[in-house]
Amino acid sequence: GKVLVSGANGFIAVWVVRKLLEAGFSVRGTVRSADKGTHLTKLFAAYGSKFELSVVPDITQEGAFDDAVKGVDAIEHTASPFHLQADDPAELSVPAIQGTVGILESARKYGSSVKRVVVTSSCAAVMHPSTEQLDEYDWNEDSVKNVEALGAKATNPDKYRNSKTLAERAAWQFLDKHVSEVGWDLAVMNPPLVLGPLLHEVSSPSALNTSAKNMYDVFTVPGFASASRGGGGNWVDVRDLATAHVRALQRDLPAYTPLAEVNKEQGRNVNRFILNGKGFSWQQWLDAVPGDKYEKGTPGSGTPPRDYINNKAIEVLGMEYRSMEETARDVVADWEARGWA
Ligand code: NDP
Repeated sequence: GKVLVSGANGFIAVWVVRKLLEAGFSVRGTVRSADKGTHLTKLFAAYGSKFELSVVPDITQEGAFDDAVKGVDAIEHTASPFHLQADDPAELSVPAIQGTVGILESARKYGSSVKRVVVTSSCAAVMHPSTEQLDEYDWNEDSVKNVEALGAKATNPDKYRNSKTLAERAAWQFLDKHVSEVGWDLAVMNPPLVLGPLLHEVSSPSALNTSAKNMYDVFTVPGFASASRGGGGNWVDVRDLATAHVRALQRDLPAYTPLAEVNKEQGRNVNRFILNGKGFSWQQWLDAVPGDKYEKGTPGSGTPPRDYINNKAIEVLGMEYRSMEETARDVVADWEARGWA
């Protein structure tokens, strides 16, 4: 089958494209301009006509994906801004929401061969302050309320998280409304912070995507480990997340649960999947890399936040996860191969 991957030049998406091609799928990747596809064409040259590009200049335009969805069997929607420098929260939420609803609307109208849509959401759409471990029934309403109340004065993490909650919710609401008209179902990936080696085009460390830059700064900027994101967070390896995106197309999923019937006691949820979600302290990452090349921090210090509950992706998608040691080793080897360390 052929899979449409939106935002194909992104950190996560290039790995998704690679794992799809390795699994035997053909891939049509969207990029905002032809020059953003050059690196991909080279990277996947060995796959010949099994990899093609489609230029979608502005995902917020109505009908932006109308041509791109034609003839594909599945869609992986990853394109969405992830940065922590927005002034107006709409800089993030408009492309997040309109990109998501737009690709679903194009699939409804022109995706007659589409069987499944996978949307890359985030633990940003799940997390909220709670003493309990969080699972796929949890939703981040707090960031939405904070952005509603504070607008441009909301924190940058809240502006990003607001965009992810609103975009994911819009996807489920779209399906609720149109479930009887469409020939596809929906699976949503909810990764925490995504770390791992790079396949996408990055000219220098300062041009890194947000999550990879975060790890680079922790290893190379004095004091960053204790300051960044409260000293830790929850993580998944980008290669494992890409595998989850492929499995989400290959596996049978539970039938759609209308939103009004979602019920934790009855075990009835929509097909959201938290990937790995292990808590880390940045100090643990520093401790995982032996030698004197990088920041040492204060070895053995730091308290990781609690893990997410992650059995669903293990049971339904058969996920297994890389260890912190393996990911750390591969990331620093990648930096060293690029002459960045
Ligand atoms: P990247 O910044 O590497 O990739 C983002 C992709 O989305 C790029 O292809 C980018 O295109 C595209 N994009 C961004 N803004 C727009 C816009 N306004 N209009 C059209 N396209 C846009 O980030 P990631 O690979 O990390 O993120 C991919 C997805 O994963 C996002 O949905 C993100 O929210 C989600 N995610 C990421 C996590 C992480 O830790 N990395 C954690 C959880 C979820 P261009 O290159 O042209 O800007």
